[in-house]
Amino acid sequence: MRGRIHSIETGAAVDGPGVRFVLFTQGCLLRCKYCHNPDTWDVKGGREVTVSEVLQEIRPYVGLLKRSGGGLTVSGGEPLYQAHFVGELFRRVRAEFGVHTALDTQGFLHRNVSDEWWNEVDLTLLDIKHIRADAHRELTGVDLSPTLECARRLAGMGKKMWVRYVLVPGWTDAPADVEAHADFVASLGSCVERVEVLPFHKLGEDKWQKLNQRYDLTNTSPPDFDTIKRVLETYRSRGIQAF
Ligand code: SF4
Repeated sequence: MRGRIHSIETGAAVDGPGVRFVLFTQGCLLRCKYCHNPDTWDVKGGREVTVSEVLQEIRPYVGLLKRSGGGLTVSGGEPLYQAHFVGELFRRVRAEFGVHTALDTQGFLHRNVSDEWWNEVDLTLLDIKHIRADAHRELTGVDLSPTLECARRLAGMGKKMWVRYVLVPGWTDAPADVEAHADFVASLGSCVERVEVLPFHKLGEDKWQKLNQRYDLTNTSPPDFDTIKRVLETYRSRGIQAF
């Protein structure tokens, strides 16, 4: 079983609980304006690896991952673009190492996989990038409905989720939008263990230039402290843990 990957990060303290081994897959169909990894978009880019080769790379870290309560996170790009490869990787890493698995996705391609496929996923980090369909399309280039459908599907299966929301001034910080987003997340129930509010940053801007892509957020600043606080409180007021 082969897949295309962009890169690997060992010892990450984000993207799930504990210390994570993070595999970034190659290929994404979205075009988020704030993407900091546009070099993952090309579905033919990256390097080809087998599941066994990835397992060999994880093996030295298994003790550390387990001791820290961490595990493997597959991010992207969009992991569901290579669902067979990722599913097999999750299956084997759990069976052979007993390591926790997390999937970082926006859910756009969730219809490509069965409910059984999700049995090998311990935690889904679900990016719900906007709550209004028109704004979601403008921000990401794609329809919002598959993502909301994915969220409801996971909640229906009782799967654990951390919902992620990138806070971009002028794009995703309007109080009414954040409140509607929080209402939707609250409607998913206790499957959502937390919301992670990720402040926008411009660290990937130079990559856009190297790829000759127009970056629209050059004049957008990271959100200020008060905005972050207000957004966190919006979730917390609905009984949702937010960080
Ligand atoms: S889904 Fe992720 S990788 Fe794809 S364009 Fe958006 S931010 Fe970039």
